[in-house]
Amino acid sequence: MSKTQEILRQTESYSASNYHPLDVVLSKGEGVWVWDVDGNKYMDMLAAYSALNQGHRHPKILAAMIEQAERITLTSRAFHNDRMGEFLEKLCKLAGKDKALPMNTGAEAVETAIKAARKWGYKIKGVAEDKAEIITCRGNFHGRTTTIVGFSTEAQYRDGFGPFTPGFVTIPYGDISALKQAITPNTVGFLVEPLQGEGGVIVPPEGYLKEAAILCKEHNILLLADEIQTGLGRTGKMFCCDHEGVVPDIYILGKALGGGVYPVSAICCNDDIMGVFHPGDHGSTFGGNPLGSAVGIAALDVIIEEKLPEKTAELGSYFADELRKIDSPHVDHVRGKGLMIGVVIKESSGTARSFCEKLREEGILAKETHHQVIRFAPPLVITAEEIDWALERIKKVLLS
Ligand SMILES: *Cc1c(COP(=O)(O)O)cnc(C)c1O
Repeated sequence: MSKTQEILRQTESYSASNYHPLDVVLSKGEGVWVWDVDGNKYMDMLAAYSALNQGHRHPKILAAMIEQAERITLTSRAFHNDRMGEFLEKLCKLAGKDKALPMNTGAEAVETAIKAARKWGYKIKGVAEDKAEIITCRGNFHGRTTTIVGFSTEAQYRDGFGPFTPGFVTIPYGDISALKQAITPNTVGFLVEPLQGEGGVIVPPEGYLKEAAILCKEHNILLLADEIQTGLGRTGKMFCCDHEGVVPDIYILGKALGGGVYPVSAICCNDDIMGVFHPGDHGSTFGGNPLGSAVGIAALDVIIEEKLPEKTAELGSYFADELRKIDSPHVDHVRGKGLMIGVVIKESSGTARSFCEKLREEGILAKETHHQVIRFAPPLVITAEEIDWALERIKKVLLS
């Protein structure tokens, strides 16, 4: 039995089967490359759903983590630590906001934004108790807590997990008149992904975010931008909202904020919103811990110093253009922004998963989303030569 088979058997024996991974067992990673336990090398075209924007084991992030681990790792928020302030200052300056609230996972940051918006609605906007409404979009992905799956439109994400938290309204994504119609005097927030990643790499019509931001302002509603996947360079700007010059009321960040080594998430907003939180209102044992803060500082430094957003804009359009040139009978179209690219497979050609399995045989690890879409979202540290290497193999699979 190969090492891979042995480990798959062990994993399947003891792991809950809430995932259906490709049957590759990884044991080493560096930059855009990963190796499996049988010594095969692959290019990572998923980058942990954009949590690895800086690549696997970025030396600067690793060094920061190791150095911090040798001093102090966790204090809880019952005491101050000497790294959180520095991290949050860097993050706030990057986002152009007054304050940040650190959590760990993306879902926790979304929950934090929901709590902030609701409390702002009651205390500042003056919505009557328990009447606050938050508008969300069809096809959204904001995480897996019971509140969040309650406003998912993916039947499987909800099935068996109710009853759900009330106070959420769903509208079609990219439809500004639907947003206008959904607004009531009780609306406190509009929670939106500037580009839907898990939803199938869906780019909304141009101007959508800008118009949404104007509507929100007119109606005194908070724009909550879930930039957990699109933020920190992925789409070729620091934040995906930047493409339309939009500054949301609350940025929701995660994934790459942890530099691919540690879960770090946060919301960033101004004092008028963050001011609703008082001691005891909200918290997290691990949120803002010194290890996560040290990692977060290094993760942001790498994105800024290596100009990853600018690089991504350039390489992303090269990659997408070259993908469009492949005259494959299986491909319906190619879409995306920066290095978040979806190749849509025609239903007559089978599912995207079968293509991902063929890509894997060629040394490329990619993951399908929504049956028909192959997502190409490598670490942003990828080079043009590495993209060419991938293109050769992608071409082979798409033309076969
Ligand atoms: C991944 C993701 C989340 C959830 O993050 P977790 O760290 O898995 O909880 C939320 N929103 C978006 C847009 C995401 O891509």
